[in-house]
Amino acid sequence: MNDYRAMLATALAEARAGLAEGGIPIGAALYGPDGNLLGRSHNRRVQDGDPSMHAETAAFRAAGRQRSYRGTTMVTTLSPCWYCSGLVRQFGISRVVIGEAETYAGGQDWLARHGVEIVLLDDAECVALMRDFVQDHPDVWNEDIGVD
Ligand SMILES: [Zn+2]
Repeated sequence: MNDYRAMLATALAEARAGLAEGGIPIGAALYGPDGNLLGRSHNRRVQDGDPSMHAETAAFRAAGRQRSYRGTTMVTTLSPCWYCSGLVRQFGISRVVIGEAETYAGGQDWLARHGVEIVLLDDAECVALMRDFVQDHPDVWNEDIGVD
């Protein structure tokens, strides 16, 4: 569990960096089977004008090509949306560590049903980051998750 908390700290640092850039405060990182960091990033939709640059996807891209994703862990500050949950399934990422699923419940149950190990940390700082952001910028958030 300590390792998961340390991984979440990396994702949280990314989320804070995204917020400081004027973006949506969601961070993520991909770790290898032996706990080595493969890639880290944050939601870049606002910064890049790219709707596909969700945190998990950005971290996945930052990791570059990997021969296999077996045994890898994706850590994210927020429950992964359908799009990023699809990425986890597509490439066979073994585990998803989630900071919180309180402000947004993504695909974690669906992932669990398909054999992905889900670790939900219920982290208060992750909740506060998203709650404040959604309150201040509901339009930007709804655009991110495809809600009209
Ligand atoms: Zn996503």
